[in-house]
Amino acid sequence: MLEFKIIKKDGAARLGELRTAHGTVETPTFMPVGTDGTVKAMKPEDVAATGAKIILGNVYHLMLRPGIDRVKELGGLHKMMNWDKAILTDSGGFQVMSLGPLRTISEQGVKFRSHLDNDKIYDLTPEKSVEIQHALDANITMALDECLELPAPKEVIEKSMLLSVRWAERSFAAFKDRKGYGIFGILQGGDDWSLREKCCELMNKIPFDGLAFGGVWLNVLTETIDVIIPCIPKEKPRYVMGVGIPADIVDCTLRGIDMFDCVLPSRFGRTAQGFLKTGGTLNLKKGDMRDDMRPVDEFCTCPTCQRYSRAYLHALFKENEPLASMLLTWHNIQVYEDLMKDIREAISMGTLSDFHAAWFETFRKYHPDEYAKFKSPSRTIMLKK
Ligand SMILES: [Zn+2]
Repeated sequence: MLEFKIIKKDGAARLGELRTAHGTVETPTFMPVGTDGTVKAMKPEDVAATGAKIILGNVYHLMLRPGIDRVKELGGLHKMMNWDKAILTDSGGFQVMSLGPLRTISEQGVKFRSHLDNDKIYDLTPEKSVEIQHALDANITMALDECLELPAPKEVIEKSMLLSVRWAERSFAAFKDRKGYGIFGILQGGDDWSLREKCCELMNKIPFDGLAFGGVWLNVLTETIDVIIPCIPKEKPRYVMGVGIPADIVDCTLRGIDMFDCVLPSRFGRTAQGFLKTGGTLNLKKGDMRDDMRPVDEFCTCPTCQRYSRAYLHALFKENEPLASMLLTWHNIQVYEDLMKDIREAISMGTLSDFHAAWFETFRKYHPDEYAKFKSPSRTIMLKK
């Protein structure tokens, strides 16, 4: 059981507290992604120093390497990685479904061969996924769902959504309830609004601790949220999976989303893309960074921006030095965590709508190209893990 307390409402947005066995998470919150038991290129204590109170772990990666029994022998994910704050694990479904010809789906679950070891056949059922997440000691377990590749005909989306609901029932039944631990269901239904509503109706019958949105296309992200929010219980935390760039987060919190995760701040940290507080990004590999002695972001107080120049990061990235990824990942995660702090402050003062307007005005002014791309209806990629 997870206690979720709503402290303050501001329009559709909420300031909340999610109480887990590994500390209280203030919402809206951003969860850095720690795929293999590590937020790549960052020490867990440095992740904590950014203000992050919860991270995400991936079942699929951990079950292949180092293996669930090994994580269990090492005392669970918290102990293994020396992270004493909360952890949410995904069900493994998204990665397994992405394996294409290496997997087969049935009523029972998914059978797959891994991308690492073609000979071994793995079985992932709703019960097995929940058992694995229990062994990992995840504070928030995610129900196994079918992640359908879109676009797809309505009949196919409906069939898949109904299978996900049956798997959600089985996942919930397999979950061992204890204080400070909970399980979230995942709402499917693709880009068909009637199916999204039907899915909410069916999922509302299962007493999950929170609800997540799966299979959401970025170009209809806000529309999808506006369809779903009125159909689900107000008292439960709402988590939109795999989203997104800062602009998405600002938009989604205004519409009532409480939790986010995304690989982008860490992935961009390893590929020389720095997020800026003005909403856009900066390519540290570009030639004009060579002699730029300013910090990555003049408005940022992270250790990278306090101590190192763009020119130094440029030189490190040119030489593929590991320190480049470490410094820029720290900065990127800090930008996300600071954004969440600003959003929470705005909600507490009842000024989120003003914050939203000012934030987008800054984004449009300083990064017109990225703003135009954000607003483009062709932004159809589906982000998840
Ligand atoms: Zn910084």
